[in-house]
Amino acid sequence: MILIKNITIVTQNKEREIVKKGSLVIEKEYIKVIGKSKSIEKEYSRKAKKVIDGKNKVIMPGLINSHGHLAMTLLRGYADDMDLEKWWLEYVYPVESKFTRKKVYQGSLLAMIEMIKSGTTCFIDFYYYEDEVAWAAKKLNMRGFLGCAILDFPTFLYKNADEALEITKKVIKKFSNNSLLKVILAPHMFQTTSLETYVKVWELTKQYGLLLTTHMSETKAEVNFSIKKYKKRPVEVLSQASILDENVILAHCCWVNKKEINLLKKSNVSIVHCPVSNMKLASGIMPLPELLRSKINVSLGTDGACSNNNLDMFEEMKTTALIHKVNKLNPTIIDAQTVLDMATINGAKTLKIEDQIGSIEIGKRADLIIINFEKPHLIPCHNIISHLVYSVSGSDVETTIINGKIVMENRKIKNIDEDKFLQEMMLI
Ligand SMILES: [Zn+2]
Repeated sequence: MILIKNITIVTQNKEREIVKKGSLVIEKEYIKVIGKSKSIEKEYSRKAKKVIDGKNKVIMPGLINSHGHLAMTLLRGYADDMDLEKWWLEYVYPVESKFTRKKVYQGSLLAMIEMIKSGTTCFIDFYYYEDEVAWAAKKLNMRGFLGCAILDFPTFLYKNADEALEITKKVIKKFSNNSLLKVILAPHMFQTTSLETYVKVWELTKQYGLLLTTHMSETKAEVNFSIKKYKKRPVEVLSQASILDENVILAHCCWVNKKEINLLKKSNVSIVHCPVSNMKLASGIMPLPELLRSKINVSLGTDGACSNNNLDMFEEMKTTALIHKVNKLNPTIIDAQTVLDMATINGAKTLKIEDQIGSIEIGKRADLIIINFEKPHLIPCHNIISHLVYSVSGSDVETTIINGKIVMENRKIKNIDEDKFLQEMMLI
């Protein structure tokens, strides 16, 4: 049992309640008690195995990174300042296609350390060798969705999409009974993956009851490709093939028109916004205000470290607010609370586990982060939500808890000798 006392709790519950001088009790994987400190402290101080004093600290739900390619940490800074097509086809794909199992494990572990240290407790990955990603997550006790990338192009793991599907089936079976890790299917994007393959992946998701994620309408070039090949825009193609429903997660959607927004709303899909990657690759600006107005669920992702170039979800939140304000020349177009929702509870909705994570509520899994507000850039604090979105950065996260276990305390990661691992990584 863990007691966290005398702390400000940003619950992200339905009422978006903030409890000042609050206490929180974690029992096993779950949040057992939330409330004002005094009475809770009395009852649980002796029972708790561990007590954390939260003076001048804020506890909030762990951030959910809904789109990324973890092992791309190995390609950070390798291909900058070019558009997506050139970036992927001429630089990323040729190198990635030679990656080994070990490299994917190391790159994913590196990504997870970075994520835990910047407040992310749950991720969607989108890559190859997802069983290696799973071992890395198990080592650090991280919650994750293992997105098995499927494309028609040959990769280091398979020669074609059919082989990819066979390998994916094995991964599905391996991790079908894991409370922290779930498999999710990830057809790559229109330029690399045919509609025929999308249909096959879709059938597999239905067979096993899984979520599906894909890159969608990320660039103008992708839309043009779709119009040339299918005589339709990408969202229309998937809609006509009946591959859109509440179990589908579309990353990017920078180039969707009104008609497509209606189709997205009707099908109840979730969309992931990755503004930093979209800005860096100059892919485009997602029509976020229009999507939110249509009541479509939108969460946040960093995308891979090769197009961001970090995995700091606090930076992603700030960028989200800023890009849309300046794009519409309207500072009221999106507020801090809406952005914080995108990185927490909306992410849980995207993953269909909002009954388990995404807010601090009794009975939910304890995926929590503690931020020290005793910092020059956080004093005075007129508005906690404002600070979380506009002023906090990932390095302000002091302690990270996932599924009731402390995975980082006072910035020290548990379960791995971080210094030794980083030394090893410097040599590869
Ligand atoms: Zn991506």
